[in-house]
Amino acid sequence: MADATLPHFMASAEISSLTFASLRQTLIEEAAEHDLPIVTDTGDAVRCRTAFGDVSAFATGEGVRLEISAPSESFLSELKDAIIVHLAEAVPQLMRGLQWSDAAPAGSLPKNFRFATVVDLQPLGPLFLRVTLQSHDLDDYTSQSIHFRLALPPAGLADVTWPSLDADGQTIWPQGENALHRPVYTARSCDAAAGLLVFDVYLHDGGRVTEWLRTRPLGVTIGMTGPGGSGQLDEELVYMFADETGFPAMARILENLSPHAKGEAYFESENGIPSDYPVIAPDGIVLHWLKRGDGLPIADLAVQRMAEEEGGFLWVAAEKGGVTRLRQALASQLKTRGTRKYVSAYWQR
Ligand SMILES: Cc1cc2nc3c(=O)[nH]c(=O)nc-3n(C[C@H](O)[C@H](O)[C@H](O)COP(=O)(O)OP(=O)(O)OC[C@H]3O[C@@H](n4cnc5c(N)ncnc54)[C@H](O)[C@@H]3O)c2cc1C
Repeated sequence: MADATLPHFMASAEISSLTFASLRQTLIEEAAEHDLPIVTDTGDAVRCRTAFGDVSAFATGEGVRLEISAPSESFLSELKDAIIVHLAEAVPQLMRGLQWSDAAPAGSLPKNFRFATVVDLQPLGPLFLRVTLQSHDLDDYTSQSIHFRLALPPAGLADVTWPSLDADGQTIWPQGENALHRPVYTARSCDAAAGLLVFDVYLHDGGRVTEWLRTRPLGVTIGMTGPGGSGQLDEELVYMFADETGFPAMARILENLSPHAKGEAYFESENGIPSDYPVIAPDGIVLHWLKRGDGLPIADLAVQRMAEEEGGFLWVAAEKGGVTRLRQALASQLKTRGTRKYVSAYWQR
């Protein structure tokens, strides 16, 4: 995880349309939903710690001050975007007149946005295509924050609109026929000095990224935002479960585990064969390759295995329906497992 104890960059917004009590409540509920710790909670201040920095609310005479602090500009920008998405869903009036203190000139590109050019495409087994992007300022793309979003213009659009900041410092994304496709991917590796980022796409019919890659877009410039999400695990015992969309993240985490780590990693795919995806893992991790449809869906298998194990870190990346069932099981029959887990929906049917 990024060192959120050393925030160097900060942005705040004064909100007069909300009380401290209501924003505190929302922040605490969001933190609980995402397994994030509340590190301060007093009568007039609450602070939640994330992998990218801290989100705080302070009572002021007129209302409440929302404050974000992070170790880099792009983490700050990611956190601001995440706040807008998560908190504004719960309290729509948060958006009214929200003005960030560090607002760049209107029309600027968001700090976490970069242009990137496709410089290489290589088949990776029968199910994946390995894509290499050339970009710049990739220092934040470390093994501790491995996810990012593509920003793909609609096919055939001659005049692309990219995101920009408005006068309040909020990111404005193009809408309607100009809307960009923004799926999340995992940086399989990143060489910041060379400006190269590699990611692996699971090819599935009907997927817009798959269709785009089938046009062999070498030399094409796209957008990307990030990094976001989590990464490296400092754990000695892990139980990991994923379908193809989680293979890149699981492989990157496995290769960065301590060489003494123990546990199991379950890979569910169309074929269920080890050559589906290259994985390097410590000797103490047993790899299982499962063919989809031959047994329990991967998230349900996680429920079954976790009912048999007491300790260890649970890591799951799969389709949303199965992840919802797993979360329900964690809240009921598996609740003694505590919060040492990463359980995430990577795609939706
Ligand atoms: C944190 C995170 C990391 C991720 N990392 C990766 C990664 O490294 N590599 C990767 O390939 N994916 C990854 N994903 C999953 C990826 O974001 C989704 O699969 C996304 O929907 C792909 O967009 P698309 O353009 O292919 O499909 P869309 O055009 O958005 O969707 C078209 C159709 O495809 C269906 N669909 C989407 N995903 C799948 C699937 N896996 N199997 C079958 N149907 C599907 C949708 O339900 C929809 O009906 C990640 C997701 C998250 C949240």
